Amino acid sequence: MEITDLSLSELAAALREKRVSAVEATRACLDKIHKTEDLNNFITLCETRAMRAAANADERLARGDFSPLCGVPVAVKDNISVRGVRCTCGSRLFDGHVSDRDATVVQRLESAGAVIIGKTNMDELAMGSTNESSAYGAVKNALDVTRVPGGSSGGSANCVAAKQVFGALGTDTGGSIRQPAAYCGTVGLKPTFGATPTDGLTGFCRSLDTIGVFARDCDDAATLFGAVCGRCETCLLDGDVRGKTIGVADEFFAAPVDDGVRCAFDGAVKRLQRAGAKIVRVSLISFDAALSAYHVLSSAEAAESILRFFGDNKSMLDKAGAEVRRRIMTGTYVRTGENYDEIYVRAAKVRAVIKSRYESALELCDAVVSPATSSAATKLGEKNDPIKTHNGDYFLAGASLAGLPAASVPCGVADGLPVGMQIIGGRDREREILNIGKAVMRY
Ligand code: GLN
Repeated sequence: MEITDLSLSELAAALREKRVSAVEATRACLDKIHKTEDLNNFITLCETRAMRAAANADERLARGDFSPLCGVPVAVKDNISVRGVRCTCGSRLFDGHVSDRDATVVQRLESAGAVIIGKTNMDELAMGSTNESSAYGAVKNALDVTRVPGGSSGGSANCVAAKQVFGALGTDTGGSIRQPAAYCGTVGLKPTFGATPTDGLTGFCRSLDTIGVFARDCDDAATLFGAVCGRCETCLLDGDVRGKTIGVADEFFAAPVDDGVRCAFDGAVKRLQRAGAKIVRVSLISFDAALSAYHVLSSAEAAESILRFFGDNKSMLDKAGAEVRRRIMTGTYVRTGENYDEIYVRAAKVRAVIKSRYESALELCDAVVSPATSSAATKLGEKNDPIKTHNGDYFLAGASLAGLPAASVPCGVADGLPVGMQIIGGRDREREILNIGKAVMRY
């Protein structure tokens, strides 16, 4: 068995017991990344920095520092600042930009002893669902290289799936952690809005942006999340769902979902039931309404902040790709066009209704589940149509608008490709969501 085949917690145990060193683990990850570099998961590798961090972690381990991330190689999405490393956001707009400080989440990972290997590929400015809008080229799904890894955190999800690292940070504004996690067969957790600090993040939409984690299983996701949210708890999840009430949204039954996904999802719901959970139907609000409101509000906010950032330098925007330009155009239109009340104000009202519906649904149950995506990973090039691409976030935008934590966990396969179950929980209930996820993955 190779080092990179271990899970994060298995690696942590091997490091503690001195069966492997942090330097060896880091070398193994870098070798794996080079061997499988065609996947194009990384925009920048920080090899020297990583080897230095690994040597420091070995000293900490030798002194008996057994924090669960000490010596563990991880990756960071390229819109989160790591001091001294370039930060591209998958765009040519920031050519030549090197971060002059660490984001707080990066500081927390490093003070827990994690080794940052590199910055991962992403859709330009985190706008997209396939990773194909990156100025640094598309990412190939590690499980089937003719398919996309999803987006916008495609590189982060895929490097965890490809076992190039043991965990990664991503960002989720309207689905960008959960959707690629589903496509790549990893666990992806979008935390409660505000639970993780977003300083040092080149934001897409401040009122929705969250920083979350990718890992191979729910325990590892809980460990990483604990480190970045600053509530580091080491107790393991028990995966016990006896007595839990789990809601399936009525709206799901009318939703356009591929048969294979529906079948995998139904199977997972039955497994939860067999494991002792009570399954109930709850009513949210149409997923369509959530998706439309999300696109109106996020494009408006993004357009405003991009135009403000570039100020008198608007000619710079010529360097932006098609998706970013489209968002600036639609965002400006919905905020300043003659249909302001019809579109923008209405979307803001929908957001308020969604928030209260999701919150009331979560008073009736411990979590609400749905498929994460309506299909498994799509083919590279297939979703060049922006409308189809936007529809990929059908189930995901609601939890973002409500500010609630939600994860995607692998729950089965459709035509040989992974299917993700979305688990939405109440405010600050990340561990509970991951615990339900553990039950889904165990049985
Ligand atoms: N795919 C969605 C979009 O294109 C979500 C992006 C995100 O969460 N950053 O807007």
